[in-house]
Amino acid sequence: MAKVICSETLDFFLFDVFDANQVLEFDRFKEYDKTSIELFFQSIRDIAENELLPIYSKMDKEKAYFRDGKVHVLPELGKAVRAIADSGIIGALDSFENGGIQLPYCITNTALSVLYAANPNATPYATLTQGAANLISAFGSQELKDKYLEKMFSWEWQGTMALTEPEAGSSLAHIISEATLLEDGNYNIKGQKIYISAGDHDQTENIIHLLLARIKGAPKGTKGISLFVVPKFLPEDEALKDNDVLTAGIYGKMGQKGYTAAHLMFGEHGKCKGYLVGEANKGLNYMFQMMNEARIGTGTLAMATASAAYHCSLKYAKERIQGSHPDKKETQVPIIEHADVRRMLLSQKAFVEGSIGLITYCSLLKDISEFGPSENRKNAHLLLELLTPVVKSYCAEQGFQSVNLAMQVLGGAGYTDDFPIEQYLRDTRVNSIYEGTTTIHGMDLLGRKIPLENGLALKLFQKEIETTLKEAFAIEETREMAALLTDQLKGFEKVLQNHFRILKTSGPRHFLADATLFLELFSLITIAWIWLKAIVKLTENKEERNEKFVKSKLTTAKFFFDYELIKSAGLIQKMSQEKEILTSSIDSSIFD
Ligand SMILES: Cc1cc2nc3c(=O)[nH]c(=O)nc-3n(C[C@H](O)[C@H](O)[C@H](O)COP(=O)(O)OP(=O)(O)OC[C@H]3O[C@@H](n4cnc5c(N)ncnc54)[C@H](O)[C@@H]3O)c2cc1C
Repeated sequence: MAKVICSETLDFFLFDVFDANQVLEFDRFKEYDKTSIELFFQSIRDIAENELLPIYSKMDKEKAYFRDGKVHVLPELGKAVRAIADSGIIGALDSFENGGIQLPYCITNTALSVLYAANPNATPYATLTQGAANLISAFGSQELKDKYLEKMFSWEWQGTMALTEPEAGSSLAHIISEATLLEDGNYNIKGQKIYISAGDHDQTENIIHLLLARIKGAPKGTKGISLFVVPKFLPEDEALKDNDVLTAGIYGKMGQKGYTAAHLMFGEHGKCKGYLVGEANKGLNYMFQMMNEARIGTGTLAMATASAAYHCSLKYAKERIQGSHPDKKETQVPIIEHADVRRMLLSQKAFVEGSIGLITYCSLLKDISEFGPSENRKNAHLLLELLTPVVKSYCAEQGFQSVNLAMQVLGGAGYTDDFPIEQYLRDTRVNSIYEGTTTIHGMDLLGRKIPLENGLALKLFQKEIETTLKEAFAIEETREMAALLTDQLKGFEKVLQNHFRILKTSGPRHFLADATLFLELFSLITIAWIWLKAIVKLTENKEERNEKFVKSKLTTAKFFFDYELIKSAGLIQKMSQEKEILTSSIDSSIFD
């Protein structure tokens, strides 16, 4: 099959750089060893090659449509997603007791990288179901677990997350869907949800919505939101009964044309039943579990799409003969020989591989925070909290830029549908919009995560970086990179001080005005640290990887420091200025 992701790079970050072997030692995962994990990865690669990749373009060309109240998707999609379900991945994170396969998150997410790279539009039908099932498993009653988990793990039933409403997008505090207590202790649901991914389609017999609504009389704001299981069809006595969930239509979108997003009406006829998950008014806290997983998932999806585009552009660059070297005008060369094409390829490679490192690290933190030695759990949790907005938004924003470069490498061919890049570009754009826009994550990082526990999360992260720097200064290959990162860290410190000065003197509105830029700066520093750590590990264990691999990683890391990290200097200069922030000080009337 066409190469869409590099298995050796995934393996390198998973086992050499971040030592996933430590996770396999945890009690929870003692059924697994490296051999069984490799067999699992092989089955995943087979599904990617045989089921997912072949239908990627077809899902776009024969897009989903809405007719006579029903949503139709490409028929082959059903077979492909069921193959994913057969691998066990929907129930991967759940316990054996609940019918799951108790796989570490870092292994699951590495497998998902492969599936996403092969088909970023089919795989999310499975991962959304995974997230929804995990919520039932973590917070639902035994009755809910018994009724829903098995059918969701096998993808007989689709799962969704139904949060967004016409008046509540970024601000979930303004959700107005209503739940009224019924005599049987369950709830009558009434409301509208918009843009619901996989919200309706014809490949599963039921769709299970994990829906946020407000119980009548509940407090305003985020503290009055509850979580409900709302099935499209009620499973009653072996039969499925209509539950008054109506599809108003699906959205015509720029991309993801085979991955539906539906506008749903709940309880138009007053007969939509919902089942409370956990306690009343704690719904948003519960939903954060799914959203945090979905955020790492969105970062992974964006990285994987960029990876597929990179490999497509790399193959093209080796084959396309065009132009000659400036100093040797007589012969034409493959375009990979041109310095600027190499810049575009290296920029993609540095993004994709740096992101694989970050995603792997975050996934490992999740495993440690839940199942690691008790003394390590809290720190792992804090680090994960700090890095979740980074993994989501850096991968989404830079993923789009990376695919854009892939298109540029192909020239005119990249803009045509003879190649998949134009589809990748359309499909990946939404990653910086859903699961919280980049702005919202910037504000989350600066306003909530940096001050978390008096800055403890940040201090822990700085300690990790300092440890790597110390090692890197001792190695010849990494000394220069370590010095560059040290400089940017000093600049970052100035930015932080300036921001807390702004908070004190001018208040939160001005403090958060440049939060997106802050996120960009913090992301560059984070990825630089990932690359530095990777090269330190690689030079320590050079003999384990072949010479070509070592050279390729070292060159890519150097490129990241020379061409990407350097961008932080401009951001530092901007954000350490002790003057009024323009965008939060001006009057809206200047826009005409
Ligand atoms: C294809 C697709 C699939 C989706 N899937 C799902 C799904 O499965 N389930 C679900 O519940 N939702 C889903 N969504 C909805 C998605 O999560 C929202 O679109 C997103 O959260 C943004 O909300 P909004 O569209 O209302 O934009 P708005 O909230 O109106 O934002 C518009 C702009 O204003 C900015 N903005 C908003 N508030 C602030 C603020 N306080 N400070 C600074 N800037 C601000 C935003 O960053 C953005 O740039 C999906 C959306 C799409 C497009």
